[in-house]
Amino acid sequence: MTVVINMRDGVDEEKIRIAARFILRGELVAFPTETVYGLGADALNEKAVRKIFEAKKRPADNPLIIHIARLDDLERIAREVPPEARLLAERFWPGPLTLVLPKGEDVPDVTTGGLDTVAVRMPAHPIALSLIRASTPIAAPSANVSGKPSPTLAEHVVDDFYGRIACIIDGGETEIGVESTVLDLSSERPTLLRPGGLPLEEIEKVVGGVEVHPAVEGKPVDVARSPGMKYRHYSPSAQVVVVEGAREKVRRKIGELVEEYRSKGLRVGVMATETHDADEFFHLGKTEREVARNLFKALRELDKRGVDVIIAEGVEERGLGLAVMNRLKKAAGYRIVRA
Ligand code: AMP
Ligand code: MG
Repeated sequence: MTVVINMRDGVDEEKIRIAARFILRGELVAFPTETVYGLGADALNEKAVRKIFEAKKRPADNPLIIHIARLDDLERIAREVPPEARLLAERFWPGPLTLVLPKGEDVPDVTTGGLDTVAVRMPAHPIALSLIRASTPIAAPSANVSGKPSPTLAEHVVDDFYGRIACIIDGGETEIGVESTVLDLSSERPTLLRPGGLPLEEIEKVVGGVEVHPAVEGKPVDVARSPGMKYRHYSPSAQVVVVEGAREKVRRKIGELVEEYRSKGLRVGVMATETHDADEFFHLGKTEREVARNLFKALRELDKRGVDVIIAEGVEERGLGLAVMNRLKKAAGYRIVRA
């Protein structure tokens, strides 16, 4: 049995208390954040956190992000809070920035996938913040079955988890559409582990140069620092191909690829910022923000429409575009065509 709570019209404290009780009893609650929907459990309750891994079929060494609602909780979660962490938290929280810090004693090993570091952020969503305030710090990965595109609508969570978790809070479509930016502050220099909703350029304005972990660029390497990066991600059932290059060339190349795949008898879907002739088409929008917001929805939607191949228009790798391309390349298993 899954209780679906409609909160599309805004925070309702009485309904929040129902969801908070599930969390405090060690049950799973899916809730909206400004990035994507999260699948939450009491971050300090080992048994509850285990349920996240089971429900998602998530490998046990892929660590979770702990969501907090007040800065004071940072001291409980992290053993040490370096000055840059304070600076970034003050500047960007609540918001789509996750900081990796030395793990505090109260945090069970399951939550961090056995690492001695912990990932923490304060989400900028009234429902998420109310839920945490009414319960406890909440560990939450994206609320999708492992390997699938992340959920940006409650319907996506229903598709993946209905009947298997205690509660889903429907807060409408998420604003940003890609997950948080993950920044490691536990080692010598600040290192970007995952591009996300907060552009790298914004972080660099505050702390100066940031190192970029090689896995961000694409190579599926075996990473000890952030094991999550070695797993297959964001993949619909259809094969995804990303086309990158100059705008006009990309447009032409997509057209050619559509014909090529169709001549092989395949059903072809296109997701792009310009209209294309294909069996199925999903318009991603015009601006960088729209593309990020629509990305995962497009992958899920085209999959539902039963295409064999999805051709995705690439975007420039700066600002939010870095996160968009990172997700697209992973979804494509690094099948990238240069136009
Ligand atoms: P998800 O919430 O599904 O987007 O997954 C959370 C991601 O955060 C993981 O896959 C890691 O990339 C990252 N992460 C969480 N905890 C840590 C940590 N202690 N060290 C490094 N990366 C982490
Ligand atoms: Mg995820």
